[in-house]
Order: sequence, then C-alpha cells, then structure tokens
Amino acid sequence: NHARHSNEFICAYRQGWDEDHLRRLQLFADFKQALLSDEICLFFQPKVDPLSRENLGAEALIRWIHPEFGFVNPEEFIAVIESAGQIHLLTRWVLRTAVHQVSQLQALGTDLTMSVNLSALDLLEDDFPEYIQRLLRESQLPASSFCLEITESAIMQEAERSLKNLERLHAMGLLISIDDYGTGYSSLSQMKSLPVSELKIDKSFVLELETNQEDRQIVRSTIELGHTLGLKVTAEGVETAGARDWLINHGCDILQGYFYSKPLPAHDFSRWVQDYLHEEAQ
Ligand code: C2E
Ligand code: MG
Ligand code: MG
Ligand code: MG
Repeated sequence: NHARHSNEFICAYRQGWDEDHLRRLQLFADFKQALLSDEICLFFQPKVDPLSRENLGAEALIRWIHPEFGFVNPEEFIAVIESAGQIHLLTRWVLRTAVHQVSQLQALGTDLTMSVNLSALDLLEDDFPEYIQRLLRESQLPASSFCLEITESAIMQEAERSLKNLERLHAMGLLISIDDYGTGYSSLSQMKSLPVSELKIDKSFVLELETNQEDRQIVRSTIELGHTLGLKVTAEGVETAGARDWLINHGCDILQGYFYSKPLPAHDFSRWVQDYLHEEAQ
C-alpha cells in the first residue's frame, strides 16, 4: 500500500516536472551516499613548471560515476549541490581527500602543491578557515602545500565577507589562485588588492592559441599583468606542443593541460609523478 502511494506520488510529479528537474532531484538525493561510496572520487591533473621539475603541482578535480546516469559533469552536479545549500559537505570531502593524497605522496618522497577548487559559498562560511586549520594540524602538512582555486566572480559576489576569509587563509600560508581568469569582470584595482599568488588563464583563451591572434594578444597581456602584480601565471588547457612552446616563450610560469596529462585517478597520478620525476634524473 505504501509502495502504491509513493508511486502515485512520483507519477503526479513526473507530469508536472521535466526530466531535467527530476535528474537534479535524483542527483541531490543520491549525493551524500555517493560521497561515502566510490562513485565519487578525486582525479588529479599535474600543474607543471616547464623550467623546474621541483615545482610540481596538481589540481584535484571531482568525478562522479552515477549508477543510473553514468559520468555526470562536475559543473552540473556542483550547481545542484550548491543550490541545495550542501556544497560545504562536498568541499570538505574534497579537502580531506586531497590532504590524504598529499600525505600519501609525501610518504613516497614526493612534495607537491595540491590545488583544490572552491565554490563561492565556501568563502561565506565563517568557520571555513578553521576547518582547514584543523585538517592541516591533523595531517601535519604545511599550509603552503595547498592552493585554493576560486573564480573572480565568486570572490566579488559578496566581496567583503569573501575577502575576509581569503585574507585569513592567505595569512595561514595557503596559496590562493584566481581560476578562469579573463572570464569575469574584476577591475585592475580589485585585482591589486586581492591576497592571491596565482592567476590562472581560462582555457578558452589557450585552446586555440596557435591559430587565434586575438587569444595570443589576450594571453600575452594577461601574463604581463600577472607579473606586474607579482603573481605566478598559469595557463590551463595546454593541449599541444605548439601552445606549450608559445607559453614558455612568453614567460608563462605554470602549464596545465592534456599535453602533459589528463586528470588521472589517484593511483595513475602517483605513477605519472614518479615517471615525471624519474625522467629528470636521466
Ligand atoms: P576548472 O577548475 O577551471 O578546471 C579545469 C577544467 O578543464 C577541468 O574540467 C579539466 O578537466 C579541464 N581541462 C584540463 N586540461 C584541459 C585541456 O587540455 N583541454 C581541455 N579541453 N580541458 C582541460 P572538469 O574536471 O570537467 O571540471 C570543470 C569545473 O568543475 C572546474 O573548472 C571547476 O570549476 C569545477 N570543479 C571540478 N572539481 C571541483 C571540486 O572539487 N570542487 C568545486 N567547487 N568545483 C570543482
Ligand atoms: Mg580550477
Ligand atoms: Mg579554470
Ligand atoms: Mg572552469
């Protein structure tokens, strides 16, 4: 009887709601359990300093293979979880998992800087810096092993509150990166006052670097701007040797993209790192 009722309930809603809405509901309903299972995991993509193998970094990127929907784009489910007010659960899971990965690599003798993406809402949580502080204390890892990637628009949404937390995180010794740079609207004066250490050029300017004169101009002046502000400049979406060479010639500090490696599961990533560091020794 109960089953019949709940079927009727679902049918009633199915008529009024489109498939998209149902999919979002399903994702939301499944997400907490998925975090505890291995449906959700972190992949890692190297951030390479073309001039020194010692300066290795990685970006943690979340992946969800849903039993019904298969691969779900992170931007899709992150939006769902954000609008349900649950993003702190995801972010904290990502941070814990990233810390774990850094500890494991350290045990293999590898030091690297791990970047984690934040949502705008994370910076509005007053106890967010304390949470990170606690994770660092428990893991005994230095704050400088972690970089937080956040978009300009995320910072500017509630600039005063976000900035307060950013300042605290920066003061703790974490690196801060402006992600997807060039797609937002921050002014030069705003950029100047941010406690950041890295400017990450959005891949939309990098993917067609070799054929698009306009993109080259934008990237060239962004590298200059970043250096003027004393920041490291990273390019994401480096897919070809041509783009890599152009970026190196124009002083881009850190490169990330399929040319070096796609995002990899933890085990494959640590193998990639061992190979990468081993090549140098030869
Ligand atoms: P993002 O932080 O700007 O990450 C860069 C995206 O570019 C990633 O997509 C990455 O897989 C992709 N990418 C890297 N190299 C290349 C390349 O050479 N060519 C191309 N075409 N793409 C490349 P992904 O993993 O689908 O993530 C999309 C976005 O989802 C991220 O953009 C980030 O905003 C968000 N995201 C991913 N993981 C997390 C997370 O753990 N927390 C939060 N809050 N957001 C996340
Ligand atoms: Mg990022
Ligand atoms: Mg980006
Ligand atoms: Mg992005």
